[in-house]
Parts: sequence; structure tokens; C-alpha cells
Amino acid sequence: MTGPSGHPFSPAVPESILAPFRRLTGRALMLGHVHPDADVLGTLLALGLALEARGWSVAYGGPHPAPDVLAFLPGVERYATISDVAPPFDVAVLTDCPNPVRTEGLLERARATGATIVNIDHHHDNRRYGDVDWIDPTAAATGEMVFDLLTALGAPLTPAIATNLYTAVHTDTGSFRYSNVTPRTFHTAAALAAAGVDPAFVASALYERRPTGALGWLGEVLRLVRVSDDGRLAWLALPAGLVPESFVEGEDLVNYPRSIASVRVACMLRERGAQVKVSLRGKGDVDVSRIAANFDGGGHPNAAGCTVDGALDTVTARVLELVRAALGTPAGPRS
Ligand code: AMP
Ligand code: MN
Ligand code: MN
Repeated sequence: MTGPSGHPFSPAVPESILAPFRRLTGRALMLGHVHPDADVLGTLLALGLALEARGWSVAYGGPHPAPDVLAFLPGVERYATISDVAPPFDVAVLTDCPNPVRTEGLLERARATGATIVNIDHHHDNRRYGDVDWIDPTAAATGEMVFDLLTALGAPLTPAIATNLYTAVHTDTGSFRYSNVTPRTFHTAAALAAAGVDPAFVASALYERRPTGALGWLGEVLRLVRVSDDGRLAWLALPAGLVPESFVEGEDLVNYPRSIASVRVACMLRERGAQVKVSLRGKGDVDVSRIAANFDGGGHPNAAGCTVDGALDTVTARVLELVRAALGTPAGPRS
């Protein structure tokens, strides 16, 4: 279907989403989710920069700071760690945020100021908390959606805007490797490259920035990978303090257990204070977002997460039990 963007692989952008941004001027809050990643930051920055170019005043923020690994995103220095929403805003935009709890109360603060809540997301389990909701689970990244939105608005794609969107798409697709990649993904990436992205710069900024010593930490972490007897389940339970937090944040460590050929579900369990941050990855056999939902988490069928209260050992046992049940046959530990 050809949308108003003229993009041959995208569904049409709903008029209800375009309407709030058609105003000549306005005040927008671009509101991020907890532990922001490139999809949320890239889309908030891209849309915000485009609105600024149209004469809007825009603020960017969320409950947690942007990670160091994304310091190269154009405009990210404007992204603030906030604990309240100071009015007035006409519009508060949330991208890539399926659940209001992932704003740690900031969504409710924005709503209380009277801002129109615009919810743009590609998670199938999005709670539709916006005054306007645009949910497209066929999009590999929210970056694909915001690209279509900007195109439909006729907003010029500057290199800064394009770099933000390209990085969003790049990271949510595992560098164009995951099952969410479609012709639309490549069409979007091609248009963004034509708009001035330097793909080698983005890849290098993401993957060739390890500090000296990082490979030693990687070795320590990879020694912890365990595989079930039947080979279908692999996991990595990482105690706090073993390696620096900043190192873990800059790596997608769950991809290592996932990279084993026989593995159908990979888990990364990361101790963080009295909680464990769980990342689940599937390869099409099991809907891992349903496993995460048992712990009030969520995500996509092949990539999901949750945060669970409890000790690392206990949480690991509970999560693995559910994964084993979902896989259907017992998968005991391999010594
Ligand atoms: P991660 O494992 O943190 O990279 O997350 C993988 C996917 O799961 C992303 O799409 C996240 O948005 C989603 N996700 C991660 N943690 C949570 C959570 N606590 N609640 C809902 N969705 C989550
Ligand atoms: Mn995200
Ligand atoms: Mn995303």
C-alpha cells in the first residue's frame, strides 16, 4: 500500500497522528522511557528537531540519562534526566514506549498539565495510553514509523535527523539481521543514507568504541554462558560488580547465547541492586514477550524484557522454568 509518504512498503500514516504536528508553532515535550535505547532516543530527537525547524519549542527528557554509547546521536546533549514535567506543553510525545510504567510517573505528570499525549510505537502489546495512538507492530523499529511521519509532514530530512533515525533502525534490527527486517527497513535505510547518514560512522560509533580492557571483561562474562542439555536454551546470569556497568550497557550481551546454532531461546539475567533485569530473545519458536508478561514486562515475540525483584539465583530459576515450559520439553543444565 502506498501511504501519503509515497513510501512503497509502508502503511499509510494516520491523519490523527499528523494533525497534532500540523500546527505552525507549539510546545512539545519529547518523553523517553526508562534506560533509553537508540530507538526511543533517535525517534524523539528526530521528530523534535523537525518540529524545531518548523518553529516549535521542544524539550527532551526522561527518567534516565542517555547511555554513553549513544553520545554521538545529534542533539542528544539536549536530552535531560527529569523527575517532573514543568508545564506548559501542548503535546507530549512518547515513542517506543509500550507501557506507561516505563516513564516512572512522567506520563501522568505530562497528562496532568493538559498536554495532548501522542503515543507512537511498534510493540504489539502497547497499552494505548495516548490521546492519539499509532501502533504498528509490522515496523521493525519506531524509527521506520517516524521516518514515514516526517515524510508525510513534508519535513526536510537533515543529516542530523537522518542519523538519529538510521541509528534507531540499525540497533532495533541488530544491524539489519533480525527477523523484523523487511523491504520497508531497507527502503527507510536507503532514504536516510541518501539524506546524509554516514553508515560506517554509525556502525563504528556503535561497535568500535570499546575501551581498552573490554575484551577481558567480555571473556569473563562469556565464561558464564550456560546451555541446556538439549541445546535449545542458553542463558547468562551476570552478578553485579563482576564487570563495569558502563561496559554492560554498551554491549548487547544476550546476543552471545543467542548466537549458538541450536539455541531457540536465549536469556540474559543481570543483577541490578535487589532486582534482576531480564532480556529474552527467541528465534521464532516461542513468543518470549509472553514469558516477560508473567513478570509485568513485555516486548516483541522475538525480543522482550522484564525487571524482576529478587536475588539473581532465584530469578534465574523462575525465568528458566517458564522458558522450559514454553519450549515444551525439559531442558536441564549442562555441566
Ligand atoms: P531488552 O532486552 O532490554 O533489549 O528489551 C527487548 C525488548 O523488550 C524491547 O523492545 C523493550 O522495549 C522490551 N522490554 C524490555 N524490558 C521491558 C519491560 N520491563 N517492560 C516492557 N517491555 C520491556
Ligand atoms: Mn526502546
Ligand atoms: Mn523499538
